[in-house]
Amino acid sequence: MRSYERSKAAYQEAVTLMPGGVNSPVRAFKSVGMTPIFMARGQGAKIYDIDGNEYIDYVLSWGPLILGHADPQVVEALKRVAEQGTSFGAPTLLENELARLVIERVPSVEIVRMVNSGTEATMSALRLARGYTKRNKIIKFEGSYHGHGDSLLIKAGSGVATLGLPDSPGVPESVAQHTITVPYNDLDSVRYAFERFGEDIAAVIVEPVAGNMGVVPPVPGFLEGLRDVTKQYGALLIFDEVMTGFRVDYHCAQGYYGVEPDLTCLGKVIGGGLPVGAYGGKAEIMELVAPSGPVYQAGTLSGNPLAMTAGYETLRQLTPETYEEFSRKAARLEEGLHQAAEKYEIPHTINRAGSMIGFFFTNEPVINYETAKTSDLELFAAYYREMANEGVFLPPSQFEGLFLSTAHSDEDIEYTIAAAERAFARLRG
Ligand code: PLP
Repeated sequence: MRSYERSKAAYQEAVTLMPGGVNSPVRAFKSVGMTPIFMARGQGAKIYDIDGNEYIDYVLSWGPLILGHADPQVVEALKRVAEQGTSFGAPTLLENELARLVIERVPSVEIVRMVNSGTEATMSALRLARGYTKRNKIIKFEGSYHGHGDSLLIKAGSGVATLGLPDSPGVPESVAQHTITVPYNDLDSVRYAFERFGEDIAAVIVEPVAGNMGVVPPVPGFLEGLRDVTKQYGALLIFDEVMTGFRVDYHCAQGYYGVEPDLTCLGKVIGGGLPVGAYGGKAEIMELVAPSGPVYQAGTLSGNPLAMTAGYETLRQLTPETYEEFSRKAARLEEGLHQAAEKYEIPHTINRAGSMIGFFFTNEPVINYETAKTSDLELFAAYYREMANEGVFLPPSQFEGLFLSTAHSDEDIEYTIAAAERAFARLRG
C-alpha cells in the first residue's frame, strides 16, 4: 500500500488553518473515505504528491489542464509575461487576443467579458439575463452545478417544477424562490414550468453536457427543445460551458450539438490552469453590460495578463484534430473499462461526451440526477482507493467526470484499464 504520511500530517495542520483544511470542499476526499492528498508537482499527464507517489491524472485541476501539467509553451509564455508585470488595472493587448480567439471559436459569442472564475461568469450572465428581460425567475436543472452564486445554489427539489429552497444556509429564501429546478433531460417539466411561470422566467441555464452529476449527455432533442421553448416565451437560453467549453469540441458543446444559446459561460480550459471565467453572447445583449450599458459587473483582476496568457497559449495549441484524438483515446478508455467491469460483474454504466467520461456503479441508464444517484457509492469509494493505490488519480467524487489531456498517451490509457481490472478483481475477491 502507498504511504500518505506526509499528506496526513499536512492535513492535520491545514484543518487548524482553513475550514475543513481545504479551500474548496471537494478537495477534502470525504466521500471516498480518505484525507486529502497534497500535491507537489505535475508534469504532462502525471501528478506527484508530497509523499513522492506518482499518478496518472484524470482530474486535471477539475478540467482546465487540457494540455496536461506544466505545458512548456504555457510555462514559457507565463515567465515572459510575468517579467513585464503581473497586473495593471488597465487594458492590455493580451485581453484582445484571448477575446478574439473565443469569439472565433464559440459559434454564438459575438462579444465577451472576462472574469476570474466560472462562478462569476454564471452569476454575471444571470444578472444580465434578468436585466435584459426585466424578469426574475430562472430555471436550472437538478444536480447541475453552476458555481456558488446564491441564485444557483438551490436544492434539487423532487417532482415537477418545484420552487427552490435554499441549498445552503445563508441563501435567502427571497432569492431562492426565484429559482425553479427541474430534472435534467426532461423537456416536459421545462414546458410545464413555462406554462406556469413563463411571464416571469428570465432564463434557462443548462450545462449542455451535465458534468456535475457524473457525466450526463443531453438526450436527442433536449437542447433543441430548450432553444424552442425559451424563444417562444422570450426568455434567454444560457449554456454553462464552464466545463464543456473547449473540452468536448473545438467549437464547444454548442458546436458539437449544433444549438446556439443566447449567452455562454466559460471557465476552466479558457484559463489554462489560471483563474479565468468569461461570459459572452449576442452583441445586442452583451451591450447591456457596463460600461456600454447599465448592468453592472466589474473586477480588479479581470483580464489579468498572466491569466490571459495561460488561456491564450492553451487555446492556441488546440485544433479540431486535437478533439478527434481525444475522442479516440476516450473511446478506448470507455471500452476498456467496460470490458474490465463486465469481466468481474461490476454493475456499471459509462457515459461519454468527447473526452468527458462518467463511470457509474449502476446498471441503470443515467440520464439525470435521480438515476445518477442509483450508483453504489460505497463501491465507488472502494474503487477510488484501489485506483489511487494503483497510481491513477480520479476525481474523488462519483458525481464528477474523468478528463483527458493531450499529454495522456496510449500507454497511460492501457495502464489505467489494466489497473481498473486489477481493482475490480480485488473488489470482487
Ligand atoms: N459551472 C460549471 C458547469 C462548473 O462545473 C463549475 C465548477 O466546477 C462552475 C460553473 C464554477 O466554476 P468555478 O469553480 O471556477 O467558480
